[in-house]
Parts: sequence; C-alpha cells; structure tokens
Amino acid sequence: MRALESHVCGSWRAPSADGVVARHAVTGEPVAFVSSAGIDLSAAVTHARDIGGPTLRSMTFHERANLLKAVGLQLIAEKEPLYELSTATGATRADSWIDIEGGAGVLLGYASKGRRELPDGNVLLDGEPEVLTRDGSFLAAHVATPRHGVAVQINAFNFPIWGVLEKLAPALLAGVPTIVKPATPTAFLTEAMVRLIVESGLLPDGALQLVCGSVEDIFDHLDGQDHVAFTGSADTATVLRSHPTLLSRSVRFNAEADSLNAAILGLSATPDTAEFDLFATEVVREMTVKAGQKCTAIRRALVPTSLIDTMADALASALAEIRVGDPADEATTMGALVGTTQRDEVRGAVMSLRSATDVVVDTCTFHDVDPDVGAFLAPTLLRATDANARSIHATEAFGPVCTLVGYDDLDSAVRLTALGAGSLVASVVTPDVDEATALTLSIAAHHGRVHVLDASTAATSTGHGSPLPNLVHGGPGRAGGGEEMGGLRGIRHHMQTTAVQGSPDVLTAVTGQWMPGATRHMDRGHPFRLYFDDLELGTAIHTESRTVTLADIEDFAHNTGDHFYAHMDEVAATASPIFGGRVAHGYLVLALAAGLFVWPDPGPVLANYGIDRCRFAKPTYPGDTLTVWLTAKRRTLRAGTGYGEVAWDAQILNQDDEVVAAYDVLTMVANRPGVNGAPDGEPKAGADR
Ligand code: NAP
Repeated sequence: MRALESHVCGSWRAPSADGVVARHAVTGEPVAFVSSAGIDLSAAVTHARDIGGPTLRSMTFHERANLLKAVGLQLIAEKEPLYELSTATGATRADSWIDIEGGAGVLLGYASKGRRELPDGNVLLDGEPEVLTRDGSFLAAHVATPRHGVAVQINAFNFPIWGVLEKLAPALLAGVPTIVKPATPTAFLTEAMVRLIVESGLLPDGALQLVCGSVEDIFDHLDGQDHVAFTGSADTATVLRSHPTLLSRSVRFNAEADSLNAAILGLSATPDTAEFDLFATEVVREMTVKAGQKCTAIRRALVPTSLIDTMADALASALAEIRVGDPADEATTMGALVGTTQRDEVRGAVMSLRSATDVVVDTCTFHDVDPDVGAFLAPTLLRATDANARSIHATEAFGPVCTLVGYDDLDSAVRLTALGAGSLVASVVTPDVDEATALTLSIAAHHGRVHVLDASTAATSTGHGSPLPNLVHGGPGRAGGGEEMGGLRGIRHHMQTTAVQGSPDVLTAVTGQWMPGATRHMDRGHPFRLYFDDLELGTAIHTESRTVTLADIEDFAHNTGDHFYAHMDEVAATASPIFGGRVAHGYLVLALAAGLFVWPDPGPVLANYGIDRCRFAKPTYPGDTLTVWLTAKRRTLRAGTGYGEVAWDAQILNQDDEVVAAYDVLTMVANRPGVNGAPDGEPKAGADR
C-alpha cells in the first residue's frame, strides 16, 4: 500500500512516515497511508506567495477564467478513473456525479461568469465613484485587488472533489494561489484529482498545491494577506477559528460547518396536494444521497401535527424502496458511509436522538454486501416525542438520518426551525404563496439559503441539497457564519477592497474606467472611426446641436403609438406638477441623441447592443436645443473574437448645459485587421487610417 503524496513547491513529495490508514468504505481494506510528515508547510506557503501569486496576478480576470474552463473540461474528459476510485468512498455513480461533474461544473460556471461579468483587467471597481468636492476635482472609488497571500482550504471528507473545486474557482479567478488539505478518509480521491490537474500542465506553478495529512502548524506561517476556508464540523471550526495566529494577525477565516437543516411542510400542503408528495420525495432524497453525508441534508422534517402519521407512513413506504448495497452496483440507490468510524459516530448520534424520539424506520436489506465489514447503515427515520427537545435541534447525525417533528401553527414552525441556531438551507414546501412568503421571511435570518418548493417548480427545482456556484453557500451561527460561492461575491473574499481618493485622471488610470471630470481626448476625429485597439479611455466627441420641435414630438407619437398625455395633451401636461407643459418623449430624446453622435458609414463600430443606467434627469420641451457628450468609458476585449466591447458615457445637455439624460451606450468595436482574430485585410472604409 502506498502513502499518498503531497504536491508542494512544484513537485510530488512522499511523506517521511506512513501515518493514518484510509480504508475502502465497502471492503474495509486499506487504500492508502495519509501523512504530511516531512512536508515543509512553510516552504509551501512561501512558494504560493512568491511564485503562484505573482503569476496569477499578472494575468487578467479573463485569462484566469480561461484557466478555470480548461481545467474543468480536462477533468470532465478524464473523469472515469475518478468515478472508479470514488466507489471506495462509499459513493454510488449518482453520488459521484455530484462530486466530480458537479465540481467541474463549478469551474465552468465561474469561468463563464468571469468572462461575462468581470473586466478584462485586474481591478474590480465596486459601485459608482463618490464625488467628494463641489467642483468634482476630487473623487473616490472603491476598488478590489487580489490579496498577496494564499488561500488555505481545509476540507470535509464527504465531497473530496467538489469541496476542493468550489473553493479553488473563486480564489483562482481572484488571482490568489491555493493550498488544499483534504480530509484524511477520502484524501486519495482528492490526490487523484490534483494529479490530473498537475499532469495537464494547465495551471501555473504554485497556483495549486496539495498537502495530504495534518496541516496543524501551517497556521503559524500565515498572515493578514492569507485566507483559511474550512469545511467540517462545528467543533473543529471552533478550534481552528480560535488559533492564536489567525486571531493576532487577522487572517481571514471562513467556516462552512454542519447544520441541522429543516424542511417545513406548510399547513396547506394536505395529503391530497402535490406538495405533500414532493415533500416526502425531497426528504427521502436528502436522507439517501451520499448516504446522508451532506452538510445540506434535511435533518429535521417539520410537519403539521395533524399530518405527521400520514407523512410517517409515506416516508416509510418510500424508504422501503431504497436499495442499499455496493455503490459499484448500478442497481444500488444508497451506498456506504465513508468508513466504519463515521458509521459508529452516526450510531452514537442516533442514540442521543433516541431520548426524545421514537423510531419509524431503522432497518433495511443490505444487498450483496456485509454490513459488518462495510460502512453500511439503514436509512433511519425518527419521530420526535418532544418537539422542543434540545438533542433534536442540536445533534447532527451525519448519515442517512432524519427526524420528523410535529408543529401546530406557523409561529411554532418558525420557532422550532430557529432552534437549529443557524443553518445552511431550509426548504418550505406548500402550494400557498402567502404561506410560503410568511415562512420564508420569518426564517430567512437563520439561513444562508431558503428553497421554496411547490407543484409549479417540481420539475425545475435544483433541489434542497444542491449548493449552486451562482448562489451563496453558508449560513449563520452553527452553520459556521461563513459564505462561499455566490457567483462573483465569492471572489471578493480573496480580494482587498480599498477606497482610493484622487483626481479624476488618477482614478481613471487606477480603475481602468473613465471617471466624470477626467481628461477628454478630442483630437482623433470621430471616435466611432477608431478601432478598439486605438481607442483610449476618455476619447470623446461633443456633437453638433439639434432643436426639438413640437412636430418632432407629434411625429414620434404617431409613428410609435406612444400618445402619453405629457407629450400630446396640452391641458393635462400643463396641469402636471412634473412637466408644466408638453415635453418630448424620453425615447425621442435618446433617438435624437443617436442621430447626433452616430457615424453613419460602415466602420469599426459593429453594433450597439444596449444601454445601461439610463436616467432622464430633466424634461425636454419643444424649442430646447440638445447636444451630446459621448466619451469612451470602459473597454473590454473579447479574446479571439475580433472585437471588444466599449461602453460610452453619454450625457445629453440642453441649451443651458443642464443634463437632461445620462446613460452608457454599449457597443461592439472591431479590432484592427489581423488583431485578436479580426479578419486580415484592408482597414474598414469608415475607419480612421
Ligand atoms: P471534521 O472532522 O471537522 O474535519 C474537517 C477537516 O478539518 C478535515 O480535513 C480534518 O482533517 C481537518 N482538521 C481537523 N482537525 C484539525 C486541526 N486541528 N487542524 C487542521 N485541520 C484539522 O469534519 P469531517 O468529519 O471531515 O466532515 C464532516 C462534517 O463536515 C460534518 O459535520 C458536516 O456537516 C460538515 N460539512 C459541512 C459542509 C458545509 O459546507 N457547511 C460541507 C461538508 C461537510 P483530518 O481529516 O485529517 O482530520
């Protein structure tokens, strides 16, 4: 039997001692030794900081997003050996799909978000600039930049692949290198996955390191630029978060701990409704997927007291259909727990729960496996005899275990749910929108996610137990108080937000976005004749003028059918406290502005794909004379497409220099011929040569 290797400082290293034995969940046979003896954790931290970090920070968000995509696709292409190995953790094919392809899916999801929603640069602008003086000469902007440290992951055993990738994706996209420490019982699967990534050569040196075994002294090497992301039990979280170095050096610490997640069957979900059956299906799924070893699994099923007998019968019948056996057998619907130690812990937790519960189900047939050797456990459904008993709301049996709890009215359902002291997720299952709303808003403060299920979403719901890369995963209190993923929110945990104060020109240069009051460049002719590559931020045009007539307004009304009184009814418009007379349609004003700034010939501007942030600041009256300031505000290269996106700051002014409308015009602008995938050949006819 081999000892798992760690990948640190650019090479694979074997431990200097054998360490702990990780065993096969079904056969109990040893799979690997796990130890970090002799692995230099200080050198790993330094390697991440000195090699991985600078390389990642030299890349743009889009380049890092491309890395995530490449790694995600590589793992999907090479997934079969991972599936094979995953059965040794007790996981069925369906369980492993969540871990392996679900994990790769997080990389792909972040890759796509990164390319679509982040700039093609390295600085993230947070919100609008703040103008700090009356004359606009001194501004501030909040910017987020990658921290110069390392993200240390400490993972739970239950998702040895997904658990790594859901933390890696936001850190890497932010530009921060990662050191992964997998949980000992399933470290062999994480090691295999990291090996695939390392062998692919896709990630730069130092971006991803792996330490199999203990990392207890790694904390001594961390400082305020570093981040520790822990997933595991609430008890371990408490020990780690109070580590003196983490406290004294303000090392960021995020905990995703266990929680006593609830599902609430609404009072309106009577047995004749589809929601009653949906609830039963969801509870059984959550008990049996991954043999209940999911941090998000439903541990407390809250059901109106009047329905609890019927629900207990429905759950018992559904659980009788679950086939418990060898996870490698395709017919198996529930595999093993990760090991016999874990199974014994779950049995201990069930014993604690028994003081306040009766057993509904705790036996099953074990198909073609020996439950004395493998870590098998029957799905266990309990029923509370005392709904308020502390053990029910505080004891996590991390296996196929759930407790039915009766409640009398919505207030008691809310109160009982809150006894979990903070959870990752709760489901509300009811056909009644008012009931769903009341329950959701009453329990939201205690949860990171609330999943509302009814017949209309039965086919499309992503399920109670599935954290998604674009949604927050985490919860208050007992659930750890942390937050992971949540789309781009997740990358901010790895970045430092800084309020930068200075002149509009400095802030334009720092943020990569033209700021109000910054220099405008007007010496290059019409900006729409410039290729993306030649377009500087601040390139601007102040247009000719156009006087708006009553005929313009009436023509626009007739052509579009927009006869709103403010444009067409003299008496009503005059009586209006807002207008005091007939005014031009806002959309007419925008259209007239386009007529002023558009360059008519074919040229580098390929298309206008929208406008953002449009506000009509003042009415435009017949006789008003309009001009437009159009200024290149933001440039985003779309790699390999032959074009980039340019947002233009548009300000429409009247004859008194008052802003009547302000917005961003979004355009696609061609690269020079032959650049970034643009076709070779002569410059476009309308382009400025
Ligand atoms: P655990 O015993 O708390 O261990 C979690 C991780 O912490 C493991 O990698 C473990 O390493 C490591 N660890 C333990 N003591 C440490 C120390 N003193 N210094 C550094 N690292 C230390 O949890 P588990 O048994 O692996 O996982 C099951 C628990 O995780 C359940 O309670 C479950 O609810 C929770 N969980 C939560 C989430 C979530 O997202 N909220 C997700 C999955 C699981 P070793 O394995 O080497 O001891």
